[in-house]
Amino acid sequence: MGEFELIERFFKRPVRKAALGVGDDCALLHCAPGMQMAISTDLLVQGRHFFPDVDPFALGHKALAVNLSDLAACGARPLAFTLALALPQAREEWLEPFSRGLLVLADDHGCELIGGDTTLGPLNICVTVFGEVPTGQALLRSGAKPGDDIYVSGTLGDAYLALKSLLGELALPDALLAKTRQRLERPTPRVALGLALRGVASAAADISDGLLGDLGHILEQSGVGASLDTSVAIHLLAAYADISGASGLFDPSQSTALALQCVLSGGDDYELVFTAPAAQRAAVATAALQGGVAVTRLGQIDSAPGLRLVDGHGHAVANQFASFDHFANG
Ligand code: ADP
Ligand code: MG
Repeated sequence: MGEFELIERFFKRPVRKAALGVGDDCALLHCAPGMQMAISTDLLVQGRHFFPDVDPFALGHKALAVNLSDLAACGARPLAFTLALALPQAREEWLEPFSRGLLVLADDHGCELIGGDTTLGPLNICVTVFGEVPTGQALLRSGAKPGDDIYVSGTLGDAYLALKSLLGELALPDALLAKTRQRLERPTPRVALGLALRGVASAAADISDGLLGDLGHILEQSGVGASLDTSVAIHLLAAYADISGASGLFDPSQSTALALQCVLSGGDDYELVFTAPAAQRAAVATAALQGGVAVTRLGQIDSAPGLRLVDGHGHAVANQFASFDHFANG
């Protein structure tokens, strides 16, 4: 199968929103008056971001999901995306499920594949998404104010628990590995929540590299600090009940440390962390309903810089948690 047959068969789709899709030198997108375009790119590299034997359907899903998650964090509505693909060979058994995983999620979000590039090479997948947001209404990292509440959506840390197990750092029972692996390989971008948080949240980011790191970007860009309640955070791990307690996999001190590590520094969750003034609590609850995902309030923005972890009684907890950094972590 040649390059153009491959594109034609697996990636050429009719477009409705875009003025022009796959087939010419450029795609064309309409820019609606009063709207700004939100653009984000994510690169997935084999051996770095996924295992060589990962299910191609899940990989197609994830390649787009991580990009839609960036649009969600900005409160932007998805419009279209491009796909740059380096492939070691053109195998139909791989391309068919990969393109299906990608395009099923794209259809769910009304996000059209409008172009890309295809070349021979080590497996690399680069998606660029285009979304729209009313001018001035994008959720930014820079808007958090002292006194604002800090929230996260959904559950956190289960993807990292699965990753640790797949890397052989700990052993999980099959059922728990299967459940947590879903979170690692099939993340759910919180697009509807991001849209519902426009005009409600003061700042937002998506959690790709770990809660502390991504919240840290909000703190830095907003020039503020924060305190987080670890007694609330620990319950964000959906698998917490499985790894702790009488029938748990680990003894209590081990399971507490592991759960906090997963929640605070594990990456790949693709949930949203956001801040909102206390006066917006009812509006945040409404946004969560509209977004179809629970949100948890787990801390507060302070004027003093830095990030403080506290227990349920407000006592300081030592912060030995670090987020993922490709260059720092090697
Ligand atoms: P050019 O040489 O002008 O860059 P190509 O010949 O590489 O264009 O691609 C032909 C058309 O197919 C273009 O419209 C391009 O956007 C599209 N395309 C190439 N690869 C992909 C892909 N993986 N997914 C979607 N569209 C693609
Ligand atoms: Mg080209």
